[in-house]
Amino acid sequence: MAFDYDLFVIGGGSGGVRAARMAAQTGAKVALAEESRYGGTCVIRGCVPKKLMVFASEYSGMAADAQAYGWTVHAGGFDWPGFSGKLHKELDRLEDVYRKLLDGSGVTRFDARATLADAHTVRLSTGETHSAKHILIATGGRPVRPDMTNAHLGMVSDDIFDLKALPKSILIVGGGYIACEFACILNGLGVKVTQYYRGAQILRGFDEEARGLIADSMREQGIDLHLGTNILQIACADNVPDGDAKSSGAAPAGASTDLVEQDRNRGEPLWVKATNGSEHVFDALLFATGRKPNTSDMGLEDIGVTLGRNGQIEVDEYSQTSVPSVYAIGDVTDRVNLTPVAIREGMAFVDTVFKGTPTPVDHDLIPSAVFTQPEFGTVGLSEEEARDREPIDVYCTSFRPMNTAFADRPDRVLMKLIVSKETDKVLGCHIVAPGAGEMIQMAGIAVKMGATKADFDRTVAVHPTMAEEMVTMREPLRSA
Ligand code: NDP
Repeated sequence: MAFDYDLFVIGGGSGGVRAARMAAQTGAKVALAEESRYGGTCVIRGCVPKKLMVFASEYSGMAADAQAYGWTVHAGGFDWPGFSGKLHKELDRLEDVYRKLLDGSGVTRFDARATLADAHTVRLSTGETHSAKHILIATGGRPVRPDMTNAHLGMVSDDIFDLKALPKSILIVGGGYIACEFACILNGLGVKVTQYYRGAQILRGFDEEARGLIADSMREQGIDLHLGTNILQIACADNVPDGDAKSSGAAPAGASTDLVEQDRNRGEPLWVKATNGSEHVFDALLFATGRKPNTSDMGLEDIGVTLGRNGQIEVDEYSQTSVPSVYAIGDVTDRVNLTPVAIREGMAFVDTVFKGTPTPVDHDLIPSAVFTQPEFGTVGLSEEEARDREPIDVYCTSFRPMNTAFADRPDRVLMKLIVSKETDKVLGCHIVAPGAGEMIQMAGIAVKMGATKADFDRTVAVHPTMAEEMVTMREPLRSA
């Protein structure tokens, strides 16, 4: 049977674009449909604008540090509209790069929403249909609000990049990557940040010692972090429910109980009641309460593609779905939701389907970084995970780094290695420090290669650096 295309990719984010280009390079006839902007979450409303905001926010402490080092400098104010305008120009430029990469690879682009009509047919929002031997779904995910009354009054991470002005105060709900990163960014930009996390410690799933140090550092920087606390009720501050307005005093006397729909970006204060009974008014609210795969209304289940409980597309190790001609990569499969992983999955798909080399995706020992301040770089097992599996030695040091100690800042950093007692292999490496994202990329190579503690020990230290502690920790702090 003749198809219009060898491959039709749905979704023009990092994973979809890479897979389309790589498949086209093998001589395959490839098309790609994107309903929104090319570059997807990472480039348009995730990693890239977030990291630029991290850079912007880190300047806030630099004037004070420079003074401590003898410079005569004074910090001025932060110009959000100026920064935001430049940010959006940069995102436009990057989107254009993505379009050109596709065009230059000979991939046919459709700026339209695509759904599946059958196992080999894609229907576009323009009304066209196209057949393809293989269909690759790379539609990513989107942030979700909790299921509660007036949740629409809160922003999600996508909205932050489009703010017309920075709020004076914000409540961030959640304790994951996005919540903690934005708490640090906005705090650095001068916003008064309160964070509610329902669990006992932020960044669930990561090494406990690292989580504790990050939480302490966030508090030291002025973030009002409340653990074991969640949001119970939310309303416009001038429209608080009767009973609560009396107890809070937050709303003007006689405020109506009639809660109206409000544009969440219009900057009206919001009244919030927490599970601990406290009531506060914030200029803005950010729900960083997780993400959901983009699989709704795509016709997936109609053609027999199996979805999981969170709406994710179920795939095998080759990213193949329950319909043999349909594959899926990236956040839409809810495996490891990171850009470089989506790209790897896309490349493994092309190797498997277009290069005749069946390539399972390797999800083991993926280094990653959380861009809090200080940053957190991590690869492998946490102490808690490792000790449940086998006997371990824990090498750990926490100290005030030279740079900030000289400037009289209380900041501490953490360097930690989890080592197998039996094999001496480094099972996990955790770094909380400025630049930890850069450090863990390098340490990740060693850990992925199966380096032992003895390999770390025989590596000469680079002095004076923070990372030299990674090769100079002689005695385990504890064993488990
Ligand atoms: P996470 O799943 O990491 O965190 C969601 C947070 O919201 C958790 O703390 C969770 O609590 C909490 N939560 C969930 N539902 C509710 C609720 N109903 N009420 C209150 N709190 C709730 O999601 P994120 O959105 O932060 O990030 C999504 C993914 O994006 C990450 O897992 C990561 O893979 C990726 N990412 C990576 C980044 C990086 O590499 N630097 C940066 C940003 C995102 P609990 O722990 O109790 O479940």
